[in-house]
Parts: sequence; structure tokens; C-alpha cells
Amino acid sequence: MSVVVPTSLEDALAELAADPSTTVVAGGTDVLVECTYRHRRPERLLSLRRVDELRGWSVDGGEVVLGARTTYGELLDPTLAALVPALAQAARTVGSPQIRATGTVGGNLATASPAGDALPPLVALDAVVDVASTAGRRSLPVTDLLVGPKRNGLEPGELVVAVRLPVAAGPQEFLKVGVRNAMVIAIASCALVVDVAARRVGCALGSVGPVTLRTPDAEAWVADAIDWASAAPVPPEVAAGFGERVAAAARPIDDHRATADYRRHAVGVLARRALERAFP
Ligand SMILES: Cc1cc2nc3c(=O)[nH]c(=O)nc-3n(C[C@H](O)[C@H](O)[C@H](O)COP(=O)(O)OP(=O)(O)OC[C@H]3O[C@@H](n4cnc5c(N)ncnc54)[C@H](O)[C@@H]3O)c2cc1C
Repeated sequence: MSVVVPTSLEDALAELAADPSTTVVAGGTDVLVECTYRHRRPERLLSLRRVDELRGWSVDGGEVVLGARTTYGELLDPTLAALVPALAQAARTVGSPQIRATGTVGGNLATASPAGDALPPLVALDAVVDVASTAGRRSLPVTDLLVGPKRNGLEPGELVVAVRLPVAAGPQEFLKVGVRNAMVIAIASCALVVDVAARRVGCALGSVGPVTLRTPDAEAWVADAIDWASAAPVPPEVAAGFGERVAAAARPIDDHRATADYRRHAVGVLARRALERAFP
């Protein structure tokens, strides 16, 4: 196979336009596993490793802008973690130190696995994904990128350039359950984000549906049930009611990791705990 290693975004897009069947590789932690198991036999790889425009993060107004090549390790930078705590909590659960050092947010988005750990925080925060091709740039809601299990909404020749999300406006949580405590694919995960000023709660679920799921009914119900004026903990019946409504929003399946029933139960427990932690 041939490997192309451009050093600018413009060159990368031109190389991709020249042959849209090219396989893009960022950290390689998904692509190279697929090659090893021969689920993928690319003839041409386009490495983003030297495209510096895709690296780093910044704050623009009230938004955090993460380059597509931002790694999980970089998300743990305390300054960045304070701006997007749920994403940092999710990053902490990803793989091993080696995977966190090389796996990227852009790769997680493009893989579009229902178990992708960066995805529930991004969905709960209504993140916007910036993509580019030689034809120009466009921005789309993260939910429009996640079109199906391991299917993304990129057009041929498009790259994920960055993802934009609001600076935390209240408590945030990410909780995940798997068959062990580390190096584990989620059986169920839950991201909860609170916007105190807007009196809004966002919640998104991983591994309990074909894509990362939002929970609009549970969010609206709990936003009404929270006593925003007091600093009191959420009453147990509110936490339990939220957990039940989140579980009802799940669309899990049985597979070799867990049954649908267990996943639905687990995600309800995670949602309840996340709410209790957000309003201690
Ligand atoms: C041992 C191990 C443990 C893991 N643990 C976890 C875990 O706990 N949680 C989790 O969520 N994931 C986990 N993963 C999966 C993987 O690490 C993540 O999905 C990671 O975010 C992929 O990023 P990457 O940069 O390595 O992607 P790559 O493998 O480089 O690419 C993944 C896909 O995205 C495409 N792509 C990459 N960058 C772009 C871009 N900028 N624009 C367009 N397309 C792009 C590629 O073409 C490919 O289809 C694990 C993987 C391994 C091997």
C-alpha cells in the first residue's frame, strides 16, 4: 500500500480529492486494528500526523474549539478539562495510556461507533463539527455526523477539521460501565451536562442504541423537577425518576458484551448517579 503524509490541510484535502477511496489515518488506533484483522485492505493511506492545522485547541468567545487531531491525553490538560469536564472524564476512561496518547477526537467522530466514549459528551453539549474538502467548508451538528453504527455523514473527500462545543456552564459528568474497569468498550455510558443559567440539562447515552442517543423527554422532565433556586441536592425521587426516563429512552440490543435488559438497567443507574453527582 502507498502512504501519503501531507504537511498541510490544503495538501491533505488535495490528496484526498485526487483519490477519495483513500483511507484517512489519524492516530491509527481504529484503522490499524481493522487492517490487522483484515477487515480493511487499504491500497492508499493518507496520514494526518503532520497536519498541524488539525492539532491543538483554543477558546473562541464562549466556545472551545478542538482540532480533529486532539488526543485523549490532551483532553486531560487541567486547563482544558476545566472547560469541558465531561469530555475529560470520558477521555480518562479511554483505552490505555498508549491509546490516549495517540487516539484522536476526530477519529472517534469518524468511526461513529455507538460505544465511542468522546461522543456522549459531544452530543449532550450540542457540539458542532467543522468539515472541509477541496470544495469548501461546512459545519454540521454532531448528531448529523453520527448517522448509524460505524457510519458517518462525511461526503467523499471530506475531513473532520475541528469540533466546537460550549464552555461548561455548570456541572458535567460522564459515567461508563463495562466488563472491567480499564481498557474496556462501554456496555453503557452516560454524559450529563447542566447549564445553570439556562436551567437546562443535556443527557446523551453511549452503547445503548445504533448511535449516541439524546434523551429529550428525560431532560425536559428533570429540568422542571430540579429546584434551581436552592443549592439543595436533588431529592431521591427526582434522581430515580430521571433514571427511569433515561432508561426508557435507550434502544439497546443483546450482544456478546451484555443483554439489552442489562444495558437499559445500567444506563438508568448511570443517569441517576450522574444527576446525584451534579447536584450533590
Ligand atoms: C486497545 C484499544 C482500546 C480502545 N479503547 C477505546 C475506548 O475505551 N473508548 C473509545 O471510544 N475508543 C477506544 N478505542 C478506539 C479508538 O482508540 C478510538 O475510536 C479513537 O478515537 C480513534 O482515533 P484515531 O485517531 O486513532 O482514529 P484512526 O484509527 O486514525 O481513524 C478512525 C477512523 O476515522 C477516520 N478519520 C480519522 N481522522 C479523521 C479526520 N480528521 N477526518 C475524517 N476521517 C478521519 C479514519 O479514516 C477511520 O475511518 C480503542 C482502541 C484500541 C486499539
